[in-house]
Amino acid sequence: MTSVVVLAGGVGGAKFTLGVRAALSRRGAPEATVVVNTGDDLWLAGVRLQPDVDSILYALAGQNDTVRGWGRAGDTERVNAELQAWGAGWPWFTLGDLDLGTHLARTGWLRDGLTVTQVVQRLSQRWPLGVRLLPMTDAEVDTRVVLAQGRMHFQEWWTRHRAALPPLAFENPGIEAATPAPGVLEAIAGADVVLLAPSNPVVSIGPILAVPGIRAALRETPARVVGVAGIIGGHVVRGMADVCLAAIGVDTRADAVAAHYGARTAGGLLDAWVLAEEDAALAPAVEARGIRAVVAPLWMTDVNASAAIVETALSA
Ligand code: GDP
Ligand code: CA
Repeated sequence: MTSVVVLAGGVGGAKFTLGVRAALSRRGAPEATVVVNTGDDLWLAGVRLQPDVDSILYALAGQNDTVRGWGRAGDTERVNAELQAWGAGWPWFTLGDLDLGTHLARTGWLRDGLTVTQVVQRLSQRWPLGVRLLPMTDAEVDTRVVLAQGRMHFQEWWTRHRAALPPLAFENPGIEAATPAPGVLEAIAGADVVLLAPSNPVVSIGPILAVPGIRAALRETPARVVGVAGIIGGHVVRGMADVCLAAIGVDTRADAVAAHYGARTAGGLLDAWVLAEEDAALAPAVEARGIRAVVAPLWMTDVNASAAIVETALSA
């Protein structure tokens, strides 16, 4: 039996989580606990969005749009057209009709007084997900990008500007006073393995690690902490994580991201780091930092490929 905790962002986190579910089910192991980034969350047109939670939820439920890469399969945009006509929401940000159903349900439950953890638990009951989803925190700590011209919500910077405005820093206002969601610290302390998904290290994994108490829990857990590189051959596979990495002074290289997380033996987080075959030459640099380096194919082309990556990470 292997008790597994995963730290994950949205789309990359979802592909990885599908592999975690498949690998653990083959082993007959208990369901993993997935701690999801909520830094991407935002209020828009009166409803609360949780892009990373929903990406993972929809993917595990088999309800995600695999062609577009986000949102619900077979969605329509009638309500969105009305919102645009009213000048509500953001003209560059599409809210699908089915997706809005999720947002309305979530917002209603929040207004009823449920915590974010309780809301995520309710969202997890409709379809059999095969993992336990936990938000990183119950607090609202939306990620802001610091630009030369001021601050902007991460989603506006990412979606409207396609990360083209040079970021000076990323902030999660209020996170110093936030606490991990109930169950997060216990799951980490009780795990055999903690996996860092190949999610964006800055704006997906970064906010999770910034919740006070989570980094310490990772440092103290008897579990092995294993990260998987989201960079293959010096490129982010998808998205604009390279811009985020540059803003915090980290090169877009798998060994540089490993160094950013750091070795547990040297005050960091990682016991082991899984690099792509394309980056095999970087393995010695990772090992030199006191992090065990494991080389494997890292393209999450389908659930079997993701499950193979998870198997590699679990046995690292
Ligand atoms: P987001 O929240 O939707 O942006 O998604 P995540 O932060 O969870 O994941 C985005 C990261 O996943 C990107 O930095 C990609 O480099 C990484 N990624 C996406 N597809 C793959 C893949 O097939 N293999 C690996 N190793 N990383 C991937
Ligand atoms: Ca995200």
